[in-house]
Amino acid sequence: MDAVMINKITSQKAIELEDKYGAHNYHPLPVVLERGEGVYVWDTEGKQYFDFLAAYSAVNQGHCHPKIIAALVAQAQKLSLSSRAFYNDSLGEYEKFITSYFGYDKVLPMNTGAEGVETALKLARKWAYEKKGVAENEAKIIVCAGNFHGRTITIVSASSDPDARKNFGPYTPGIISVPFNDINALTEILKDKTIAGFLIEPIQGEAGVIVPEEGYLKKCYDLCRKNNVLFIADEIQSGLGRTGKRLACDHEGVHADILILGKALSGGTYPVSAVLASDEIMLCIKPGQHGSTYGGNPVACKVGIAALTVLKEEQLSENSERLGKLLLKELTTIQAENPELIKTVRGKGLFCAMVIAGRNGKTAWDICIELMKNGLLAKPTHDDTIRLAPPLVITEEQLMKCVSILRKTVQKF
Ligand SMILES: *Cc1c(COP(=O)(O)O)cnc(C)c1O
Repeated sequence: MDAVMINKITSQKAIELEDKYGAHNYHPLPVVLERGEGVYVWDTEGKQYFDFLAAYSAVNQGHCHPKIIAALVAQAQKLSLSSRAFYNDSLGEYEKFITSYFGYDKVLPMNTGAEGVETALKLARKWAYEKKGVAENEAKIIVCAGNFHGRTITIVSASSDPDARKNFGPYTPGIISVPFNDINALTEILKDKTIAGFLIEPIQGEAGVIVPEEGYLKKCYDLCRKNNVLFIADEIQSGLGRTGKRLACDHEGVHADILILGKALSGGTYPVSAVLASDEIMLCIKPGQHGSTYGGNPVACKVGIAALTVLKEEQLSENSERLGKLLLKELTTIQAENPELIKTVRGKGLFCAMVIAGRNGKTAWDICIELMKNGLLAKPTHDDTIRLAPPLVITEEQLMKCVSILRKTVQKF
């Protein structure tokens, strides 16, 4: 048997093993990845792909960024975990770094995005009782329809997606949903004096890269301010250069009361999330009232500093803004060439999406399979939408290659 055959069996085998021994909570494209570097990943057969999902925007800095990996390895060999029962010599350095990077008094370090969101909600409730004066157990959180904030029971209680919710009840009470991008609905709901916070993705990622009207975020923020309600930005996917600015909220000059980060905060090397807020909000949580064994561990701290440093040093927001405009322009042309297949294209920075009309029974999934064959990996979200979000280190030349793969592929349908 030659080497290629052996590898082919390995790839099939990997899929079989996941299918047989793993929970079936994902439906992956049939590609088995083995290696990644920058915008590229390789499968077990050695075939190279452009990664247009970038691990849901966790690898904005590109796969296996050498500076981030170096920080990870160096700290892992020195001290990987101290627990917060003791101080460690990396946490304070990281806390100072990240709070000055984003302009907040304090940070609370966690691991996954969902934990970051949970932390923000706990913080908002505590603030509502201790600072705003809401009566015990009356505090409410407003969320937007179509949101994606993670997978815990409280977070799916805030979801409007039947797949995310069904048969996971009973749900956490005290959550009210308003339509996204509807300032009147928010105005109305804010008349309720028991609202603690308004949780929003500045651009809804999993919903299919839904970009609200210009000015919407600022109006929401102003309304929250007027009503003494915390504006909580979930920038886990939209932040860290993805939309062409440091944060998506930066497009409208909005400084969220509570900022939630995750994903690219580690450049895809480690689960690192963070919740940032002012002293007035953050100091509502006292010792023993919240925490995480791994939150703020030395490896995460060093990786976080490296990931944010790379973002700034390599001007990845600027690259995202410039190449995002080019990508959207090209997508608009491709749409015009295939008006029956592609319903809409949209995006901000290198955070774009193509909505598929479905022709001859062909779906976004079928197009993603064909893109995969042509060397580009993207994943459908909500059946009809293909998100296009490559690592932000992509060059213009690489992007134009991807545009021609996209054009060639959709023309086949
Ligand atoms: C991915 C994501 C989360 C959840 O992050 P996990 O690390 O998967 O728990 C929360 N909010 C948004 C906007 C996300 O995109």
